[in-house]
Amino acid sequence: MILPIYIYGHLVLRTKCEVVHSDYPDLNTMIINMFETMHNANGVGISAPQIGLSLRLFLIDLTPYHDEDPTIPNIKKVFINPEIIKEYGDEIDHDEGCLSIPGVRENVRRKSKISIKYMDEKFNSFSEEISGIFARVFQHEYDHLNGVLFVDHLSPLKKNIINRKLEKIHKGKFEELYPTVRNIK
Ligand code: ZN
Repeated sequence: MILPIYIYGHLVLRTKCEVVHSDYPDLNTMIINMFETMHNANGVGISAPQIGLSLRLFLIDLTPYHDEDPTIPNIKKVFINPEIIKEYGDEIDHDEGCLSIPGVRENVRRKSKISIKYMDEKFNSFSEEISGIFARVFQHEYDHLNGVLFVDHLSPLKKNIINRKLEKIHKGKFEELYPTVRNIK
């Protein structure tokens, strides 16, 4: 089932999310729905708050990148209660977009490597060191769980430039390419 995506301006996108417990009801259905919602919107990542649930869970699907460039890992999975233990390596600028901020893409500076911990859908724990586009998407989605959006990382000057666009999105004035929940004032 395709779920509507919550759009910039909605409080759920600014709320620190809660830990997911293994007895959370219908978790598998939720994950299936989130994959469907993400694919329908041509995203490579989606977090629970973007479908209105304040939970520490996100999905990443790098298959579209992998198909273009086989050196990019073919990751398609769910990350539950993820943690970034350490960020290291070079600082890299790379453009990012967000399904909750339609039509906006900007360069964001992030560390190139991270060590992470997470659980899968069966609540098995994993630790990994990741880099490249995988680390980039992980950092973006992880931010969502703490109420942080990629536009928060922009310089005040850049933020000023896109503020009008953000205001329009907040007021529901954007091209709706997939179902959304708008927070119209
Ligand atoms: Zn996002």
